Amino acid sequence: MSGKYSIKPIGEIKRLNNKQSDVSGLTPNAIVEVFPEYSEAILTVEQNSHLWILTWFHLANRDTLIVKPSRNNPALPSFGVFGIRAPDRPNPIGMYLVQLVKVENNLLYVTNIDAVDGTPVIDIKPYYENDIVFSPRTPNIKPVYREKLIKLFFKQAIAHHQEECPGLFMGVRMAVLAEEIFGHINSPELGLLVEGSPCLADTLQGLSRARLANPSRFRFEYSPSPGQSTWNRKGELLKISALRQINHKEFWELPDHEIMKYSLPQRS
Ligand SMILES: [Zn+2]
Repeated sequence: MSGKYSIKPIGEIKRLNNKQSDVSGLTPNAIVEVFPEYSEAILTVEQNSHLWILTWFHLANRDTLIVKPSRNNPALPSFGVFGIRAPDRPNPIGMYLVQLVKVENNLLYVTNIDAVDGTPVIDIKPYYENDIVFSPRTPNIKPVYREKLIKLFFKQAIAHHQEECPGLFMGVRMAVLAEEIFGHINSPELGLLVEGSPCLADTLQGLSRARLANPSRFRFEYSPSPGQSTWNRKGELLKISALRQINHKEFWELPDHEIMKYSLPQRS
């Protein structure tokens, strides 16, 4: 078999100018334009709420095998490109999990694309239920810079909880603080008790990937209070209590001490 293959783009990314949607991931920020000769292939695509969009990073460096994701955290070690989602790699295929918001002729309006305008699209596949792994083990490559971390967690929280609400705002801010203090809130070693609203609990469960069982990392108790989360790493406890509910503006603007109180980890 010959080692040569050719890939033909089936479409192109067109970016929409919508700054807010870039952050929340709830409204379309790009159009996947399917070229006319492939438009028959999108028959029934609208039956899917979510799609994988595979792109070709035409600007990537194809000789790169090792990368250091120092833009997020200068202390991170090097990673082989097959162990991380860096765009530079031998075959620079990009992969986006997007929500399909609407289909107009051969235009798919989707969320969550950060590829540059004009990026070639090489394939579109539906996202299926059996693509879900709720609590995978992953390297901790989250950004250490707070503003980036808040944006990342906000986006992940919306993808999980599917609405902006006071419980989500507080949950994201608590998770950011816990990540800064304990590191890697997805770690199997970290347990979590949430007292407060179901929205707060759902947001924190989605961000921490803590399951109720196997292993048992997550507990929830309903309370009408603004909410509290207690993080437990091998007997070290971090308790974060909300002082009050916060809205969208306060979520982005207020410092920790104005919206919650906490004390540094204590041994139980
Ligand atoms: Zn909610």
